[in-house]
Amino acid sequence: MVKVKLARDILKANDLLAENLRGRLADQGIVSVNLVGSPGSGKTTLLERTLEHLGELRASVIEGDIATALDAERIEQKGVPVVQINTDGTCHLDANMILGALDELDLARTDLLFIENVGNLVCPAGWDLGEDLRAVVASVTEGDEKPRKYPRIFEKASACVLNKVDLLPYVVFDLERFRKDVSLLNPEAPVFLVSATDGTGVAEWTNWLEAKLALKRSQR
Ligand code: MG
Ligand code: ZN
Repeated sequence: MVKVKLARDILKANDLLAENLRGRLADQGIVSVNLVGSPGSGKTTLLERTLEHLGELRASVIEGDIATALDAERIEQKGVPVVQINTDGTCHLDANMILGALDELDLARTDLLFIENVGNLVCPAGWDLGEDLRAVVASVTEGDEKPRKYPRIFEKASACVLNKVDLLPYVVFDLERFRKDVSLLNPEAPVFLVSATDGTGVAEWTNWLEAKLALKRSQR
């Protein structure tokens, strides 16, 4: 019983900190995007293609991983400021980790802040990072049952990116079923059909991000 209460207190503290972060990013006119998804769904590759499409917009990236700086090194190749967080075993990022990472970034020179979460479809759903948008990245190689098996992360997403659609002819994946299951859980969330390797759908996804940024700035 005591453990349950402690876990709730920790989550409550996280939510307060996340609200604080959201306010700080709003003051700077930044839109932040939390990318969640399984290991191997293609979050980093999607991010690479996204960064190539942003044009004038300035991005900064926070990379969350249990160990290594492999993904941050890939992002650095794009000439974009990046901070690597190694969680040392923890299977999700939390708001306090983001707070620390922000100190390493030039927020005055950031329009879009991307946060790549630790690859995991379970607990990142429960940890608010102060983001404006949460995108769940799924891929056709994982199977179409992910929304049914991990409903919470789909319910709480602002958008779903279905990646690796170039592989649809080679895998068993019921696209209509996937779309239907996502829309049952989350009727508001757009589903972008993307191949981060051949570039399919990347323009639609980045246009959506740019529209969200324009909307947020028009409301200031
Ligand atoms: Mg990655
Ligand atoms: Zn976790």
